[in-house]
Amino acid sequence: MGLEYPVIAFSFGLATGIIGRAKGSSFWLWLIVGTVLPLLGLVAVILHRSEKTEPERQCPTCHRAVKLYVQVCPRCGTDLYLPDPAEVRRP
Ligand SMILES: [Zn+2]
Repeated sequence: MGLEYPVIAFSFGLATGIIGRAKGSSFWLWLIVGTVLPLLGLVAVILHRSEKTEPERQCPTCHRAVKLYVQVCPRCGTDLYLPDPAEVRRP
């Protein structure tokens, strides 16, 4: 008795870390999150948005590649509206 919780927590941490790694995030970061918050960490990593799979578009003013959900260009401050589907670049 007493050893069950750490083992279960670590198992969750390991699963969370593996999923986080597969999504292009840090394995160790998610290992810690999943161990400290079993189940909650696992749910968080499943819902976590991967930056690598997020579609991108180009800012019409400075031509910087920005994520589709970005509404103001971080480089030049141009307001970005919903782009032409032809301009959307999928990685
Ligand atoms: Zn720009």
